[in-house]
Amino acid sequence: MNINKKRICIIYTGGTIGMIQDEKSGALRPFNFSKTNEMIPGLSALNVELSVAAFDDLLDSSNITPADWVKIASMIEEHYDYSDGFIVLHGTDTMSYSASALSFMLENLQKPVIFTGSQLPIGVLRSDGKDNLINSIEIAAAVSESGLPRISDVCVFFGRKLFRGCRTTKYSAENFDAFVSANEPALAKVGVHIAYRSGASGVSGVSGANGVNGVNGVNGVNGVNGANGVNGVSGASGASGANGANGASGVFNSDGKFRAEKNLATNITIIRMHPGVNDKTIEMLLSMPHLQGVILETYGSGNAITRPSFLALLQNAVQRGIYIMNVTQCLQGCVEQEKYESGLFLQQAGVIGSGDITSEAALTKMMYVLGKKLPQEETVKMLSCSLRGEITQ
Ligand code: ASP
Repeated sequence: MNINKKRICIIYTGGTIGMIQDEKSGALRPFNFSKTNEMIPGLSALNVELSVAAFDDLLDSSNITPADWVKIASMIEEHYDYSDGFIVLHGTDTMSYSASALSFMLENLQKPVIFTGSQLPIGVLRSDGKDNLINSIEIAAAVSESGLPRISDVCVFFGRKLFRGCRTTKYSAENFDAFVSANEPALAKVGVHIAYRSGASGVSGVSGANGVNGVNGVNGVNGVNGANGVNGVSGASGASGANGANGASGVFNSDGKFRAEKNLATNITIIRMHPGVNDKTIEMLLSMPHLQGVILETYGSGNAITRPSFLALLQNAVQRGIYIMNVTQCLQGCVEQEKYESGLFLQQAGVIGSGDITSEAALTKMMYVLGKKLPQEETVKMLSCSLRGEITQ
């Protein structure tokens, strides 16, 4: 082993990226990523040592479940000490859900975890797969002047841009730019050079590994890593550490050590507001056995129907201990429940306003937070504040 080489672990879960065309039959079959160096000969110039861990049964990501997120988290945990960074190869359809889930589950993360995939199989001539993979590897291996990883966050790399994973949404089934992070600029853009965004609030490892933790709010709670944010390259990360102080109190391991949270609450669903939705439907959904939480996708800045019977159903659910988060259907902008009467009614019913979080991040955050089985006040606090930079604060 060459000690100067960065050790990057590729976790292969499935998806289009892993497909190559069988020379004889022409059919698509999975590519063996342990042969990545052969497939992409120039990779040796990156001075990385690649290792590969793959799912036994490769998945079309439409079939992904929370149990698979636990599997990915366990694989990262298993290889954490030995690896400098991780690439998760994943289908694009649910990549934003998985990247969001892992960004919450991986606590005190100090290393890059980059999700990528492709629109065309890697074995197809015009594939975006090679480009996405090479750039992800280069970013995962990058260090700042202080020797810390450039990125120490869960990200999505796609279409020449690096995004914070919990900010992404797949918006195109056609373009090579398949993902968008509508409420936060890209953390890095790839052109002739890789341009990392400076002063990026320290939320991500763009500003140095410690900055990341500052953002998490998690560590900021203890003041420990929040303070570390000061060391972040961007300088803005110290501020994020301060944000951390607003986070929920004392629920994370205060030793700052990496760990993967594997308890996820799964009785959570998404209800999308639409004109004509009737009380019967809402009542049925809210009375599902074992329901723990709901992501309510509302209009504009967090508005929903003002019909008293509808609001009474929500209020009743909250009183029964069901958590409801208000997330806007708009790709861009945020929920401000106090802005219109219709939003205010939701607030009065006990619905939690969730700022500019995506539905993908809201769903997985609720799974993560409710999995901790904390007292109600602490749970609401965690759901309302930014834990991983998923909400602009
Ligand atoms: N259905 C595929 C998946 O998500 C699509 C892709 O990989 O882009 O696994």
